[in-house]
Amino acid sequence: MAEQRSYKAQKLIERLPAKVNRQAMLSLEACVHCGLCTDQCHYVLANPGDLTYAPAYKADRLRKLFKAHLDWTGKVFPWWVGAKSIYTDAELEELKDTVFGKCTNCRRCSLNCPMGVDMASFNRIARGLLVHVGVMPDGVAAVAKDQWEIGNQMGVLPEDYLDTIQWVEEELREEYKDPSISIPVDKEGPDVVYAINPREVKYDPRTIGEAAAIFHYAGENWTMPSQGWDMTNFGLFNGDDELGGAVAGRVYDAVERLRGKKLVLSECGHGYRSTRCEGPNWARRDLPFETESAIITMLRYVKEGRIKVDKAKNALPVTYHDSCNMARSCGITEEPRELLKLVCTDFREMYPNRAENYCCTGGGGAMSMSEYSARRLKSAKIKADQLRATGAKVVVTSCHNCVDGLFDLIRHYKLDMQVKLLVNLVSSALVVPVRPRVKPLSGYRILVVDDEPDVRVYLGRIFEDHGAEVVEAPDANQAMRAIVQQKPDLMTLDLVLPKKTGEKLYWELKKDERFKDIPVVVISGYARIDFPKIDFAGFLREKGLSQPEGFLEKPVGPEQTIAAVVKALGSAKTGK
Ligand code: SF4
Ligand code: SF4
Repeated sequence: MAEQRSYKAQKLIERLPAKVNRQAMLSLEACVHCGLCTDQCHYVLANPGDLTYAPAYKADRLRKLFKAHLDWTGKVFPWWVGAKSIYTDAELEELKDTVFGKCTNCRRCSLNCPMGVDMASFNRIARGLLVHVGVMPDGVAAVAKDQWEIGNQMGVLPEDYLDTIQWVEEELREEYKDPSISIPVDKEGPDVVYAINPREVKYDPRTIGEAAAIFHYAGENWTMPSQGWDMTNFGLFNGDDELGGAVAGRVYDAVERLRGKKLVLSECGHGYRSTRCEGPNWARRDLPFETESAIITMLRYVKEGRIKVDKAKNALPVTYHDSCNMARSCGITEEPRELLKLVCTDFREMYPNRAENYCCTGGGGAMSMSEYSARRLKSAKIKADQLRATGAKVVVTSCHNCVDGLFDLIRHYKLDMQVKLLVNLVSSALVVPVRPRVKPLSGYRILVVDDEPDVRVYLGRIFEDHGAEVVEAPDANQAMRAIVQQKPDLMTLDLVLPKKTGEKLYWELKKDERFKDIPVVVISGYARIDFPKIDFAGFLREKGLSQPEGFLEKPVGPEQTIAAVVKALGSAKTGK
């Protein structure tokens, strides 16, 4: 009697033809079971004699299904070719344990297979099949849910993201004593749109600040998007191409919405591979912009002299851990070394390295699967030995995920070593140009529109004291004439004006292609959006206008006014 299949097993079998593409079929047929890949795997090295960790054994889990359902040989000689289907939920659980708990999809075995068999791609396919029927570790389900529903894999809420950026910006100004530093959000027409890993918002916001300081001192025209900012992609780990396409698509949408020329990706191996290499296929899109890793961007800044660095500031011995996705899958091996040699004095190579390096053992989403932690840390012994042999005090990597994997194993194996990212070292080596104390508004022309002469004089004095050239207008008509003739860099606007209101003037400015990019700071007694007399927010909505770059309610103090104006100039599309 034919064996009865569970509902989930049946659904998994039905899904099989859609997941196993021609390339995978070729690869599934190609294995000659030579065993050359076996000791390439860190799990095998940590578990000698246990063949369930061998790459070929793990690949056979999928191969047996393929033979049973998709290959004619399996239908004719099933016993000869090892065809075997799957029937019970217990078998699904066993498959889950193998593909999630015994492989980090690091591709080290793939690289060392003479037949070109890509074990990691089978593993991803098998994960995708299980995810399709809801069989996966709880952590994987939770992270994928957050990325689907909240838009990033750590469930960071939009307000927390924006608050963190604002807080980091304030800290930076304080740290560098430089009020002109800004972290522009949703600035249109930038040369660089910078997308990050949500871990930076949640656990390590200093990396956002470090990157911002580097962009600032390089004089980059850059921005961060308010949406579509998560460049990580759990679709790579859980084998769900639909999730992969949706997540990558959000980042691409952000760059296109802002009309960015280049997407720069923060340091994250799988994020880089997903967004730069796999994402366009998953999302089925051609991209009208370039994508590059922040490693390349930072290296270019240093080599072109856009930022100055002093390697003596990083004197501890440093080694480099190649992220599997960055090095083995995407070929970025030389640029991080070149950069490291420019920003630190004692760089020591780790062996083996580059594409032959061992996984940090936290890859493939392993850090989200707590049930396999003991197994993961046991398999990390080879990595710990590699690290220890360098004698370095700092291991640098270019992946936030590797930071967590390495941190965990360093603690477990009691190594005397810190983990850092390249951005940490570039930032600490940064030599900030000592400039003559420049007034923050030097070189800017500001139009002050207000019907009260006292206010015009008061604001004009503040701006002139901070280096600006000031133009005044008591009403909307004179303001428009001044805009046409004097082309100010920014306008402060009172909403309550005689004859024609400030709202009307704002509308005229923003619908005029020539002037729509001039930033506006509303300084009005009726600036509050909830004030009953003028419904400015409603007016903006009705006319489909963007928010002004700043809002202040009278009376205003000098510091508050200067901060708002500097910020508005910093987030403008054209700046000096
Ligand atoms: S995957 Fe490649 S290296 Fe491994 S057993 Fe098969 S043919 Fe040999
Ligand atoms: S992909 Fe990496 S973890 Fe998976 S079997 Fe191959 S070497 Fe082992």
